[in-house]
Amino acid sequence: MTTDSLPMPTQRADLIARLAQPHQYDLAVIGGGATGLGVALDAAARGFSVVLVESHDFAKGTSSRATKLVHGGVRYLAQGNFSLVREALHERTTLLANAPHLAQPLAFVMPSYKFWEAPFYGLGLKIYDALAGKAGLGPTEFLSRKETIAYLPTVQPDGPNGRLRGGVKYWDGQFDDARLAVALARTAAQKGALLVNYCAAKGLIHEQGKLVGLHVQDQETNCLFEIRARCVVNAAGVWVDQWRMQDGQAIGRKAEPMVAPSQGVHIVVDRSFLPGDHAMLIPKTADGRVLFAVPWLGKTILGTTDTPRDDLAREPLPFKDELDFILEESARYLTRAPTPADIKSIWVGLRPLVKPQDDDAGSTQALSREHTVLVSQSGLVTVTGGKWTTYRAMAEDVLDHCFGAGLLPTREPATAHLQLTGAKNTGHSLSEAPGLHLYGSEAAVVISLEGNGHVLGGGVTESMVRFAARYEYARTVEDVLARRSRLLFLDAALAADMAPAVAQLLWAENGIDPQCDAFLALCRQYQALPA
Ligand SMILES: Cc1cc2nc3c(=O)[nH]c(=O)nc-3n(C[C@H](O)[C@H](O)[C@H](O)COP(=O)(O)OP(=O)(O)OC[C@H]3O[C@@H](n4cnc5c(N)ncnc54)[C@H](O)[C@@H]3O)c2cc1C
Repeated sequence: MTTDSLPMPTQRADLIARLAQPHQYDLAVIGGGATGLGVALDAAARGFSVVLVESHDFAKGTSSRATKLVHGGVRYLAQGNFSLVREALHERTTLLANAPHLAQPLAFVMPSYKFWEAPFYGLGLKIYDALAGKAGLGPTEFLSRKETIAYLPTVQPDGPNGRLRGGVKYWDGQFDDARLAVALARTAAQKGALLVNYCAAKGLIHEQGKLVGLHVQDQETNCLFEIRARCVVNAAGVWVDQWRMQDGQAIGRKAEPMVAPSQGVHIVVDRSFLPGDHAMLIPKTADGRVLFAVPWLGKTILGTTDTPRDDLAREPLPFKDELDFILEESARYLTRAPTPADIKSIWVGLRPLVKPQDDDAGSTQALSREHTVLVSQSGLVTVTGGKWTTYRAMAEDVLDHCFGAGLLPTREPATAHLQLTGAKNTGHSLSEAPGLHLYGSEAAVVISLEGNGHVLGGGVTESMVRFAARYEYARTVEDVLARRSRLLFLDAALAADMAPAVAQLLWAENGIDPQCDAFLALCRQYQALPA
């Protein structure tokens, strides 16, 4: 392996040394989820100098807790929001092309039990195809009963919904959200951006009514640093309001909260509950909600819910009625009903839904019903809402706002065809159990590290842990087992079994406490059922 072909190291000491150097950045980003990382990459690719701080790990927030769909959003069709769907379908194709090892097409089947379902939903999906145009992944097809059972071998043929009549098959995509986030971070770093996880924004710096930077704190050493930037982007997901309030106070303008969090719960069960390579979508369950059953990394994801909540927990807990909903509805559509004992992991994410705004009158612009960008009078650029699939288009919108507000000089966008780190068509499906294929073009580097033959479990090898520590910013056992690999989300008990071995390797690589006990507590939470 030559030095040229090695990935860029993510040595913590080097990152912190760069952070400590006085520098006037073009752009500073708060938050290392899909939105902030997308902005950092977009700006760095245009040649701006960029720094991004993430208080925890990249994608520790909502961005590792998605349903894993790269999609246009079939449900927005029903609302007649065609431009939004068209944009997302376009972004879907862009993402599949730029990170084929982490984002791939996936066929979905909607089983139909009532005479009107297949024609009704099929027609909607034909419109979906038409909106996709050249970005389409395959045509929508009407299925017979026999074909539907062939694609979904465990679908209820005769059950509480009546007799299965047939179905509709259509195409969308799926992805590994947390690994994609790390790929965005690493690609931005290759373009010159400085990205630091476990480094929290602590305060905004204003001078003469203008925002000129922020104070940040290394969460490992508690050292404080001052960052100077022409433009500060607040991409803190459901946590954006804290910064809008602080900014408002500094300039004497009251900012109203813009985020209304809504939580979504997923459960993971064995692949045998939905064998095959097709996902199942129930567009309208008994109480009108949507239910997905998605094959992912060797398991089946069932979900999700959409429940308003007013706190902003880092690790929110599921509610009992959310779990009941998923289990009861799955039982109506699958021949083998999953029970609580079958659950391998249960996880919860918070959607940053955006309330209508009028407090920043004049500079407020809701770009779409999906995401919102606001530029405050001091120059704080806040972006929230939207979805993972459209992170790249959202980033372009953010940069357009920075240009429009005169915070940065206009430069042309550069990410539409930018291949992300590791991009390679591996011929493996994301429905398969995890393995080396998730490293795309970097698989050879992983193999070259010590401990390649030493399998720790769940498709994770010793060399993958070393790779995570050296090249993927991993600091803790949770970073490795929840986000560089996805074991916590796939099988929390197995993740707990593997934790001590991972901790030992991380200790040897990083020389800091890898927080094994905290991770074991998290594994217990991901296995615990709500009472
Ligand atoms: C249940 C559920 C399912 C979903 N499924 C899909 C799907 O299938 N497909 C899809 O396209 N979209 C999906 N979405 C939407 C998508 O996941 C979100 O839109 C996206 O992840 C939001 O990213 P974000 O970066 O804005 O927020 P986050 O990912 O939450 O990132 C914000 C980051 O800011 C950090 N932060 C907070 N405070 C500070 C601070 N003081 N200093 C530094 N950093 C800070 C946080 O730690 C966090 O990492 C789903 C959402 C939910 C909730």
